[in-house]
Amino acid sequence: MQYISTRGAAPTLAFDDVLLAGLARDGGLYVPDTWPRFTAEELRSFRGLPYAELAARVMLPFLGGRVDEQAFRALVRDAYGSFAHKAVVPLVQLDERTWVMELFHGPTLAFKDVALQLLGRLFDHVLGQRGERVTVVGATSGDTGSAAIEACRDRERVDIVILHPHNRTSAVQRRQMTTVLSPNVSNVALQGTFDDAQDAVKAMFNDQPFRDGLNLSAVNSINWARIMAQIVYYVAAGVALGAPDREVAFAVPTGNFGNVYAAYAARAMGLPVAKLVVGTNSNDILARFFQSGTMWANGVTPTISPSMDIQVSSNFERLLFDLMDRDGAATAQVMAEFRATGRFAVSQGQLARALALFEGHRCGEAETMETMASTYRETGYMLDPHTAVGLHAARSAKLDPGIPVVALACAHPAKFPDAVEQATGVRPGLPRHLSDLFEREERLSVLPNDIDVLKDFVRARSRVAAGVA
Ligand SMILES: *Cc1c(COP(=O)(O)O)cnc(C)c1O
Repeated sequence: MQYISTRGAAPTLAFDDVLLAGLARDGGLYVPDTWPRFTAEELRSFRGLPYAELAARVMLPFLGGRVDEQAFRALVRDAYGSFAHKAVVPLVQLDERTWVMELFHGPTLAFKDVALQLLGRLFDHVLGQRGERVTVVGATSGDTGSAAIEACRDRERVDIVILHPHNRTSAVQRRQMTTVLSPNVSNVALQGTFDDAQDAVKAMFNDQPFRDGLNLSAVNSINWARIMAQIVYYVAAGVALGAPDREVAFAVPTGNFGNVYAAYAARAMGLPVAKLVVGTNSNDILARFFQSGTMWANGVTPTISPSMDIQVSSNFERLLFDLMDRDGAATAQVMAEFRATGRFAVSQGQLARALALFEGHRCGEAETMETMASTYRETGYMLDPHTAVGLHAARSAKLDPGIPVVALACAHPAKFPDAVEQATGVRPGLPRHLSDLFEREERLSVLPNDIDVLKDFVRARSRVAAGVA
């Protein structure tokens, strides 16, 4: 198994190199050169397996022998052992044909843990084999920093510094980051906005000597290994609901297109997926694309589902590459056009191929609130706002009534308590493993929005910079 870039001009790499590289050198995203495929018999044999065992079987073909099988199995068991539910990603039935798959039982209550808990361990393992270290830096508006911190905490070969805007995240969000007291974790409360934090991180990556001197790395959503880990739960839900002998549809609240692309990958591997319903909030660039065949950016509006407040969906390029029949030069040209003009269009034939599998639906703020309210009223089940966007899309989709629909629950309602309380009248409580969050000790450094101060801070926290072997 080798990996190729969607822009066709970067070297073909093996799994471990792709894991550490993230983005390809030509600006593209790595994808497997061929999809491993499971036979119907193999899919049937997956029924009833413990999640970690299923996860190992689904992911092993992607490693191409570059990670020792027994070591990998141990990493997977350890990663999913950190989840608060024995089923890791349990299914809850809402009505005759609709299920919710709860992806929020990880340490930070959001689905990103499913991939990142494994990714941090994989980084450590591969870096250890090579005798290397990395310094991970990132900026967060509050939602996603904690998943990266929980992924990297206590890792032998990784130091992590996460910048958040001082006094602009919720107390729960801040505490999920700042109460991790591991020596390799640093939280910076930047005296500025989220954009300032993001600009500072960009400036660090653009400073080549700084970047090389600290072996800077990111655990961002375009990393192939994150997609790989997300394929597993689609297979798990599919076989639990009758695949390969019955088709399944998924409804996925979408921002960067990473999660729903993993569903596309599961289908490419042989899972019978009837439909992928893409749910967007009012930042609806993807819903507009699936309606028109044209992608155009038009700014970001803050919503009550903030993890999907994006301008462009970076992982969409992986689907585009397939729609372009895996022509890297053609994909690069379209992406260049998009960068230059903020717009590109696919052909009617390409759109028709996309629509054979995908459909997109926008869910505005009022509809998100209404979906949370009506679901709670009718079933007693509490949705977080992101999950509500996906469920609303599922209800708007034109689906064969005989096909089960799985809506992905991407965050625990307690992660967004204000919106949930406003919609349902009930304030969701934190789950048991976080119930003492407000009693825990916090550690953070408040720093000015000054790039030299920030670089000095990161340098001082980096074992790469300190020359530790
Ligand atoms: C990141 C995130 C999303 C969006 O996922 P993508 O893979 O970027 O499409 C949706 N919901 C929640 C809660 C998230 O954290």
